[in-house]
Amino acid sequence: MDLGRAASGRRRLKDLLLQKDNRVCSDCNAPDPKWASANIGVFICLKCCGVHRSLGTHISKVLSVTLDEWSDDEVDAMIEVGGNASANSIYEAYIPEGYTKPGPDATPEQRSQFIRSKYELQEFLKPSLRIVSGKSNQSSSSGSFMDSFRSAGSQRMEGMIEFIGMLKVKVIQGTNLAIRDIKSSDPYVVLNLGSQTVQTTVVRSNLNPVWNEERMLSVPEHYGQLKLKVYDYDTFSADDIMGEADIDLQSLITSAMAFRDPGMYSDMQIGKWLKSDDNALIEDSPVEISDGKIKQMMTIRLQNVESGDIELELEWIPLDQ
Ligand SMILES: [Zn+2]
Repeated sequence: MDLGRAASGRRRLKDLLLQKDNRVCSDCNAPDPKWASANIGVFICLKCCGVHRSLGTHISKVLSVTLDEWSDDEVDAMIEVGGNASANSIYEAYIPEGYTKPGPDATPEQRSQFIRSKYELQEFLKPSLRIVSGKSNQSSSSGSFMDSFRSAGSQRMEGMIEFIGMLKVKVIQGTNLAIRDIKSSDPYVVLNLGSQTVQTTVVRSNLNPVWNEERMLSVPEHYGQLKLKVYDYDTFSADDIMGEADIDLQSLITSAMAFRDPGMYSDMQIGKWLKSDDNALIEDSPVEISDGKIKQMMTIRLQNVESGDIELELEWIPLDQ
């Protein structure tokens, strides 16, 4: 270990701790905090530290400022966040009026409830804002806030993704899929939206698989196309692709924005994604209000493959549900 670097890390951490806003616990204002959440980037007292620990390291990775070894990355992340005031300006941005933060002598229940609301449920962020990890592996030593800040560099807000709603995709079935092994294929569907990827289960030896599986995706403000790929599961080598298609979400989302409270309307068609020569639709795909929900049925022809259609149902789920 490089003792020189370790010493400088310790020095930098100490300097940060001496900053005025870091002289009290970020969560309860108790003086002289000696603990920190290395991924969230706040200094906290011993009592709050106990609650942070109970949240699990995927939410808060607690380290002692004086007793633990800190990696350079962890120190850098703390410095990037900029201390308690900076972190709280985001995590406590929308504390409801009349809400009182727990003080140093709060009961364990009050303390625990506040800290869970603040970091686990993220209740006091701007309503549509959720701090999410750029990494798929949430259990890695680095956590959400740090990754957000890192990936964003100094533009810290850009590291947080603002979601406008949720998309529920029901993968219903495939028809006449391509043969990839000698006689059949073991197909599964992969859906990709922005940085999120979800997939169905594998259906063994079936060119007309029925999935009827629902998967949820968060829809970012700049959502782009939903990418669908079908693969043939292969135990011994890389899975072969069995076709793909791009799904345009514009008609669904534009209609959903125009009918924000679909429960008020009876069943009707509110939009349509039109079939064209350069999209994968087999026929026009209507957007409908059905039982108070906004849904879009579609059958798409897989591209870059001999054959295969996939039937899907999309449902728009507003954030406030
Ligand atoms: Zn505290």
